[in-house]
Amino acid sequence: MSYIALYRKFRPLKFEDMVGQEHITKTLKNQIMAGRVGHAYLMSGGRGTGKTTSAKILARAVNCLNPQDGEPCNECEICKEILEGSLTDVVEMDAASNNSVEDIRAIRDEVNFLPTKAKYRVYIIDEVHMLSVGAFNALLKTLEEPPEHVKFILATTEPQKLPATILSRCQRFDYKKIKNEDVIRRLKIICTQSNIKITEDALKTIAVLSEGAMRDAISILERCSQESSEEITIELVKDLVGLPSLEIIHKLTKAIVENDETVALQAIDDVVNDGKDLYNFIWEVIKYCKDILVYKTTKKLDLYSQEEMVRNSRISQ
Ligand SMILES: [Zn+2]
Repeated sequence: MSYIALYRKFRPLKFEDMVGQEHITKTLKNQIMAGRVGHAYLMSGGRGTGKTTSAKILARAVNCLNPQDGEPCNECEICKEILEGSLTDVVEMDAASNNSVEDIRAIRDEVNFLPTKAKYRVYIIDEVHMLSVGAFNALLKTLEEPPEHVKFILATTEPQKLPATILSRCQRFDYKKIKNEDVIRRLKIICTQSNIKITEDALKTIAVLSEGAMRDAISILERCSQESSEEITIELVKDLVGLPSLEIIHKLTKAIVENDETVALQAIDDVVNDGKDLYNFIWEVIKYCKDILVYKTTKKLDLYSQEEMVRNSRISQ
């Protein structure tokens, strides 16, 4: 069997499986149940926050033969064909590589035809801000007078780059960065189902490093699980993403605080010998100092384990 990346394997197939965007999925489900789905949507937000995932679910939900509470059944003939990517009525286009007037004109000509099998022709245009000016104009014409049987779902990480004329014709949903606890909750499900063993601290670190992007979090988890068949630890996570160990950052910071030049130089020597990038290292030291200051005031830090917190508190005195 061919290998499927974890984030593809665990891409949510229903709105209820998506985490952290309940304000959007609830509205979409209500619209589907009430039969009031708009003709153009704009999903905007950071990478890995679920824009394309929900666009795909929406494309199935509006066409599903047996929708349940606004969700697609994922089992009927139409859902299955969309999932396989074989239904020509649902078109996914990446505007980063198809951004010309001709690409959009092709869609404009196509929308006049009725769908072959499904109820609606659905066009999902990813990274829509990459379209050329001419392409936007061509798209605008279609958005102004869309045929009844057509839905557009545009997705972008940079909504400010879209012309106001396009924005005003779409129902807009803003996707939030996914909270650390939501990332951790999802990672735990993936680990259980994939037999991946991981410590709580390692999970927390992955969540913080992913900065609210679920796809990044799953990718880091996947790299760690490929690297080691044993329990994934915080050290392995940091090592894989190229972060110098906290040990060495702490060593240099402490040496600076104590005016100990010998130890400070030793620490830098260790980093160089370890093959780690010095520029990254300096940034990590600056971040560490900031974290200690934050800790001094708030007594709260996300990225650190209990043991490391104790060390932080000592240096902050
Ligand atoms: Zn279905």
